Amino acid sequence: MQGLMMERPLLVSSILEHASTIHHDQEVVTRTVEGPVHRYTYADLAQRSRRLAKALTALGIGRGDRVGTVAWNTHRHLELYFGVSGMGAVCHTLNPRLHPEQFAWIVNHAGDRLLFVDATFVKLVEAVADKLTTVERVVVMTDRANMPGTSLPDPLCYEDIVEAADDRFAWPALEEGAAAAMCYTSGTTGDPKGVVYSNRSIVLHAYGLSLPGALPVGERDALLPVVPQFHVLAWGFPYAVPMNGGKLVMPGPRLDGASLTELMAAEGVTVTAGVPTVWHGLLEHWRTSGERVPSLGRVVVGGSAAPRRMIEAFQETYGIAFIHAWGMTETSPLGTASYLKPADFDAEASARYDRQVKQGRPVFGVEARIVDEGGAPLPRDGVAFGELQVRGPWVCSGYHRLDVSPGHTADGWFATGDVATIDPDGYVQITDRKKDLIKSGGEWISSIDLEDLAMSHPDVQQAAVIGVPDPRWEERPLLIVVPVAGAEPDKKAIRAHLGERVAKWQVPDDVVFVESLPLGATGKVLKSRLRETYGGGAA
Ligand code: AMP
Repeated sequence: MQGLMMERPLLVSSILEHASTIHHDQEVVTRTVEGPVHRYTYADLAQRSRRLAKALTALGIGRGDRVGTVAWNTHRHLELYFGVSGMGAVCHTLNPRLHPEQFAWIVNHAGDRLLFVDATFVKLVEAVADKLTTVERVVVMTDRANMPGTSLPDPLCYEDIVEAADDRFAWPALEEGAAAAMCYTSGTTGDPKGVVYSNRSIVLHAYGLSLPGALPVGERDALLPVVPQFHVLAWGFPYAVPMNGGKLVMPGPRLDGASLTELMAAEGVTVTAGVPTVWHGLLEHWRTSGERVPSLGRVVVGGSAAPRRMIEAFQETYGIAFIHAWGMTETSPLGTASYLKPADFDAEASARYDRQVKQGRPVFGVEARIVDEGGAPLPRDGVAFGELQVRGPWVCSGYHRLDVSPGHTADGWFATGDVATIDPDGYVQITDRKKDLIKSGGEWISSIDLEDLAMSHPDVQQAAVIGVPDPRWEERPLLIVVPVAGAEPDKKAIRAHLGERVAKWQVPDDVVFVESLPLGATGKVLKSRLRETYGGGAA
């Protein structure tokens, strides 16, 4: 017997329509690329997104066409999220921090017909213009007064095309499986891989984010996504927040601690989200300036493991809940979130932090398991570790233009390339990327564990651990440290600090002090670069 319920498609445009009718007067505030703060409402966002869709139609964009964006977090970028996906085209967010060659490769591979580019990134596009084989036109995301001079042929001005179009545009009744957005991941080896999100997966993911045990943002909240819109669709918040009527505060290009603090305080931001590197900068700014954001109640961190000391600093010093989450481009990205079980929440501090450094429990919609090298499931005992596999309606089923995906198993799971434990309560703890695990004398060493412990030393600001080849042990861990400003850390003391906490054979043989760690395009420590530099040993 069949259920008798309506088959209404789950569409990105329906989120916008809901926000603009039910939450019509809620604000979207942007610190623009041009400088001033811009504010309007969800009703305005919807109206301008319809105009944009009309303008795109006039430019010949149709269903399934890819439209690239090279842009900061702004209201115009939001209009592209909704206008492009809403009309049935595919909004392809590009990461401007990639190497230009890789950037061009990705544009061509995706087949982007138009590129929408912030003035900041016009030079980047100029530099690769002769390599772009599918791009017909570039639209600079500014107004006429701020159009930069450019060698790009026939550049269009965003405000001109939006102003020229009217808003008599009805969102088409798309099939919910239709592609809405795409994003390339360079987290795997080989060429970057294109992940294609559907209307359905984006809407379901937004519901998933909104669950009380996930990363909900309600009508009384104001969220500032530091995570860029080009990094897994700003983790889905640009959909989940309008769905729930929250205020969106878009930071534009200024992501340093002082600028973020100023905007958050001025706009009453209650929730923010980003990678640990950003929170290092914010904490450092608060420490040295004495500034605060009184309204801020929750900080979401993901993309890399959050060190215990960072979680403690936000919670103990500033009284701000710090929520650790795990995900990937391939998982839209929400996989797990670290809302604690009530018993863990009430536990004494040290036991609570033991749980909080884990990446959290799977959100309904995502199933997780760990497997051994032969693919056999491992016990959920918090000790056994193996590759983390996930499945669910917002996990990718394959990659764009790749016939055989290296990450998908015959029985329908996605192999994440992350190594993890899962405990009996379902908490997942990532111990490493598979390629970053260190094997010494036949035993595995978790670089994330060592980094976390090193960062609990008072002189250590940031730490990275890599394996370096060793004739006797195969590999040995090397610790690379950015000292706290003004500190003069001592190798012996740091090694002794670790020696009190891990087995002797796990303690790195050497410590290297550096001014900063190399960061990749999404703000994560580039271990491949560290291996190139120090792969031969610390000397
Ligand atoms: P990306 O596709 O660029 O978002 O990268 C996804 C990868 O980031 C995951 O496979 C993990 O290796 C890493 N990652 C994401 N969140 C966390 C976290 N909370 N802790 C540790 N690693 C994480």
